[in-house]
Amino acid sequence: MSGVYVHIPFCKQACHYCDFHFSTQLGKKEAMVNALIKEMELRKEELPNELVETIYFGGGTPSVLSNDEIEQLIQTVYSNYGVIDQPEITLEANPDDLSSNRILQLSKTTINRLSIGIQSFFEEDLKLMNRAHNASEAENCIREATKYFDNISIDLIYGIPGMSNDCWKTNVQKALDFGLPHISSYALTVEPRTALKKFIEKGVVPDVDDEQAQEQFHILVDTLEANGFVNYEISNFGKPGYFSKNNTSYWLGKTYLGIGPSAHSFDGQHRSWNVRNNVKYIKSIEARELPNETETLTQTDRYNEYVMTGLRTIWGVSLERITTEFGTKYVDYLNQQSQRFLEQGLLQLTEGKLLTTKKGKFLADGIASDLFFLQ
Ligand code: SF4
Repeated sequence: MSGVYVHIPFCKQACHYCDFHFSTQLGKKEAMVNALIKEMELRKEELPNELVETIYFGGGTPSVLSNDEIEQLIQTVYSNYGVIDQPEITLEANPDDLSSNRILQLSKTTINRLSIGIQSFFEEDLKLMNRAHNASEAENCIREATKYFDNISIDLIYGIPGMSNDCWKTNVQKALDFGLPHISSYALTVEPRTALKKFIEKGVVPDVDDEQAQEQFHILVDTLEANGFVNYEISNFGKPGYFSKNNTSYWLGKTYLGIGPSAHSFDGQHRSWNVRNNVKYIKSIEARELPNETETLTQTDRYNEYVMTGLRTIWGVSLERITTEFGTKYVDYLNQQSQRFLEQGLLQLTEGKLLTTKKGKFLADGIASDLFFLQ
């Protein structure tokens, strides 16, 4: 089974913390949609013997496309690849694009999952992050979406400078009150070359407080787990039956095709990534040349990736899989390196799988990098 990811590289305005690839020049939208269609046609041989089980529109802001443009892209997936019956088809959408009428119209398309970029229900947080929506749009669009969609996820950000733990608890509680089956939540990170980084350097915005982010992460985990959610990946919480199939397939190492500028693809052995520039992408596709670079993953790369993703999920890192797939050299190394984390109570070994404990979960990426095999 495989997935198709389509990157829609446009946003109405730039959020201050964002380092994803997007442009606010929406004038290129039509040319981009044509190029995305052409890229799929050029790459139609790339998923031989694989059926597509998920189609995911990410970005950027995919909801800036019209419903017709989205349907055109979905139909292009169907005409170029084998697709299972009832694939999961997710659209990332921002609240300011989700009027009642737009949600009703979207519910008539083949999209069956919405992932809404709420981030916070508080006006001051939304302003600080320069989100295009306001607090009432955040609430209204969820209320409307739940009338027509059953499979909805929202994104929330914690660790926002100035956001108290009480405000964070209110954000989490509001999300729970809507009865949603899935929530993705990320710590605000300060990326280089973002407006947020500059504001912090100039002292206009206070720096993020790692300790508070950690406290807010634990509030999140405790509250959602007490309400029937499974924290199946560090940043993802789902009710049983509602885990994101798209994201899960990345973590379980399945293959996927990434279409659009900056999109990554993985075929089991090679990773490739498209150019991160809309004009170069469109020009190259129009010339029928794929604008991508490829690397072949070594055994060590694959081991390191498995450790990194495994420790972030409830599926953990299987020692048996390490032995059969990578050999005793790697499992011996992992056993030796993980010892101190087991003693510190940050990792646990359960039924042959290394997992982060509650205490270690927030630190999973740092722990994983200490378990990496260095060639
Ligand atoms: S809407 Fe999303 S992709 Fe666009 S700037 Fe904001 S965070 Fe980045």
